[in-house]
Amino acid sequence: MPGIYIHIPFCKQRCNYCNFHFSTQLQHTASFIDALKVEMALQRHYLPPGSVKTLYVGGGTPSILTPGQVRDIFSSLEATLEVDIRNMEEVTFEVNPDDISEAYLRELKDAGVKRLSIGIQSFKEADLRFMHRAHTMEQSQYAIEAAVSSGFDNVSIDLIYGIPGLSHEEWVAHIEKAVRFGITHISAYALTVEPRTLLEQQVRHQKVPPLDEEQAAVQFELLVRTLAAHGYEQYEISNFALPGHYAIHNTNYWKKEWYLGLGPSAHSFNGSSRQWNIANNALYSGSLLQRGKLQHETEQLTEADNWNEYVMTGIRTMWGLDLQYMNAHFRESFLEQLMKDIVPLQEKGWLESTSERIVLTLEGKLYADRIAGMLFV
Ligand code: SF4
Repeated sequence: MPGIYIHIPFCKQRCNYCNFHFSTQLQHTASFIDALKVEMALQRHYLPPGSVKTLYVGGGTPSILTPGQVRDIFSSLEATLEVDIRNMEEVTFEVNPDDISEAYLRELKDAGVKRLSIGIQSFKEADLRFMHRAHTMEQSQYAIEAAVSSGFDNVSIDLIYGIPGLSHEEWVAHIEKAVRFGITHISAYALTVEPRTLLEQQVRHQKVPPLDEEQAAVQFELLVRTLAAHGYEQYEISNFALPGHYAIHNTNYWKKEWYLGLGPSAHSFNGSSRQWNIANNALYSGSLLQRGKLQHETEQLTEADNWNEYVMTGIRTMWGLDLQYMNAHFRESFLEQLMKDIVPLQEKGWLESTSERIVLTLEGKLYADRIAGMLFV
């Protein structure tokens, strides 16, 4: 079930932990949209005709766009790629709390958006200041209320744990608050120090203490247990949903469905190759608008690449590694090696397996990336 991702590469300010691609030069938004339309035309045959079922508009901060710009992008997409946005199974739009009002959200709904993903991150003012978020705690709460009152019944929020000074009690209170709001989907991530971020500099210059891994591990366990008690399923390590509210678009990434990514830094995948656009707004737009050329790189994927990617993403989901799928798509020797590699991990209590699949245990989820690396070929 192929999908389209559109990257809106602008933000009002830089959050201290963020290493996504974006620019704060919002004055270039209009030329970016013009360039995006040229890219749509160039990429119109990337996915099989009539196959697209999901659209995800992420960033950056898509909610810096005006409703008119959103409609403009959507109508170009429909005209150029021959997709029908209103009849897609899922159309997600990321918003930040400081950008939105009920009127804005109603306009998004009218344009065809079916699902909102709100960058809440924390309900504590000190956390928001620490992370250099552009919104206040009050705006976070208002954003959720506005989403519900403007008619969205499919709302996801992002939360962050492991923030210095965030107590375990406060973290559980944040989760409980989201539950009380009736949020159907929660993505929760541990704060991490990524290269080339403000947080990395702050830690390096000892303005912020190194992050406490023990705090993050305890808060992860509190997250899993608290949400399970309220009926949420942990269908991916960082993603929790009430029954029937899994994110279809993101689940398709993990299941290795095809997707087309549009915009600077966006990635695309068509089963045999992966390509990624240049992560520079000026070069992206300049090349498309002046020369009609998309600056991107392509990598042909080997069988081993596909195996490793499947293991990396699949092991993080509640469906785990599907042995029937692996048997059908990969050579026997890879499977034989896998069966040997999982033995010590099962003995440690990090993995469980049946004749159909291999899944992480709760403890194994703390080491998911390490475990995946041990199952690579
Ligand atoms: S709003 Fe999102 S994309 Fe922009 S800097 Fe903050 S975390 Fe990064």
